[in-house]
Amino acid sequence: MLRLKDISKAFGNQQVLHPISFDLKEGERICILGPSGCGKSTLLQIVAGLLRADGGEVEMAGRTVENGGQYVPPEKRPINMVFQDYALWPHMTVRENIEYGMKRRKTAPGERKERLGKLQALLQLDGLLDRLPTQLSGGQQQRVGIARALATEPQVLLMDEPLSNLDVKLRTDMRNELAHLLGTLSIATLYVTHDTMEAFTLADRILVLRDGKIDQLAPPQELFERPATPWVARLMGYHN
Ligand code: ATP
Ligand code: MG
Repeated sequence: MLRLKDISKAFGNQQVLHPISFDLKEGERICILGPSGCGKSTLLQIVAGLLRADGGEVEMAGRTVENGGQYVPPEKRPINMVFQDYALWPHMTVRENIEYGMKRRKTAPGERKERLGKLQALLQLDGLLDRLPTQLSGGQQQRVGIARALATEPQVLLMDEPLSNLDVKLRTDMRNELAHLLGTLSIATLYVTHDTMEAFTLADRILVLRDGKIDQLAPPQELFERPATPWVARLMGYHN
């Protein structure tokens, strides 16, 4: 579904991503786990098309969207994205926020209504559709952000620390909710986090990123049983 081949990126003389290669399979969830500044958001933004890579290739649903010469802009990629700060349009109601992307993509009104109904049920948005974002709690705003991203039926969902602005309790609840939701939808997902628990709950495979390099890419269980580097071992809670 998504293939990265030797993607690299520098800002000035700081090499943020060393050549990175991996595949995200259909319906698979990969969590990109790593400390602050290791290049997680940079990597996601390159996949989204919000940033150009210096070198390498990105392929999506069998189509090259980024290489030296070729570049497909974000709105023409079969993706959608959920950010840390939700970034809902403040002047639009929940309904308008969710419908915005569908309208831009010229989804027919009947189809829009149907998807909105489904998302309303899926993300527990009953009674919220006519509210403005300021009239919602953090958790509700995040649900709307997710609904808005899913409304365009992306083939790949990109999430950049979507729960990190929530308080601890809500974060745990949303983490489990999201794991259930993504499991049900079986949509290919790249999920960025620096929270090991979150990665363990949500991922089919975890990609441990450190200083712009992949330390290990493996299912959670394998990371735990056979950490490939001392850094991964530390992340897994081994102290030696
Ligand atoms: P966090 O967990 O704090 O969000 P991250 O892993 O997402 O961190 P990135 O945002 O990808 O990290 O940043 C990686 C490095 O690249 C950091 O050192 C950052 O300062 C630098 N960087 C990111 N964007 C730019 C930019 N536009 N110009 C210059 N440097 C940048
Ligand atoms: Mg980041």
